[in-house]
Amino acid sequence: MRILLSNDDGYFAPGLEALAGAMAGLGEVTVVAPERNRSGASHSLTLDRPLHLKRAPNGFHYVNGTPTDCVHLAVSGMLDHEPDMVLSGINWGPNMGDDTIYSGTVAAAMEGYLLGVPAIALSLASFEGKHFATAARIARALAERFRERPFGAPVLLNVNVPDIPWDELKGMRVTRLGRRHKAEPVVRQVSPRGETVYWVGAAGAAADAGEGTDFHAVDNGWASVTPLQIDLTHAGQLDRLRGWLGQ
Ligand code: MN
Repeated sequence: MRILLSNDDGYFAPGLEALAGAMAGLGEVTVVAPERNRSGASHSLTLDRPLHLKRAPNGFHYVNGTPTDCVHLAVSGMLDHEPDMVLSGINWGPNMGDDTIYSGTVAAAMEGYLLGVPAIALSLASFEGKHFATAARIARALAERFRERPFGAPVLLNVNVPDIPWDELKGMRVTRLGRRHKAEPVVRQVSPRGETVYWVGAAGAAADAGEGTDFHAVDNGWASVTPLQIDLTHAGQLDRLRGWLGQ
């Protein structure tokens, strides 16, 4: 099995190292990740300059681009063979609910999915970053499952693992995305040169976090596994829109 790994935290991130370690012995592993932290890059491509592919001493490849650039470059040019699976992460921090719209971790997996490769985005659902090993074992379990039992349809999974020891994890739960409250306001500061500058504020707290959501699973000690799709069409509004436009 050929496995392509990427992330959005950068090629030096501990979560990526944990993920690569978890894949050892499972197949031929290639790592292509951004040269710096590109968290929040969403699905952006770099179109205004060339991309450089370099190799770190540990064998990981890094690119002066976005997570999407990395997977795009690897699958559609760098690799001799299409990978059997793309795994992205393990992100430092959650990617639940609305986070998935902004996430570079999800985007790297989504790029694999768009290119026809089964893909999994993996995130450790806290900013303390203590138990990457727990998320790494989930990654391994899912990769083994793919190898032994193909899913039978194109698939993009978004996985969030609570930051707890393996022994305390209850298992995996299939979930839907929840929703967050509106993000915190931007933070205004004055720079040392007297300019007013703004920091994007923190993500909002969970709003729709009821039973069945990713938030609920993670809060209750389960690894959350959500199948994602790309079509953003609001099918339920098509008729209303036709009526509104008199069609
Ligand atoms: Mn990140």
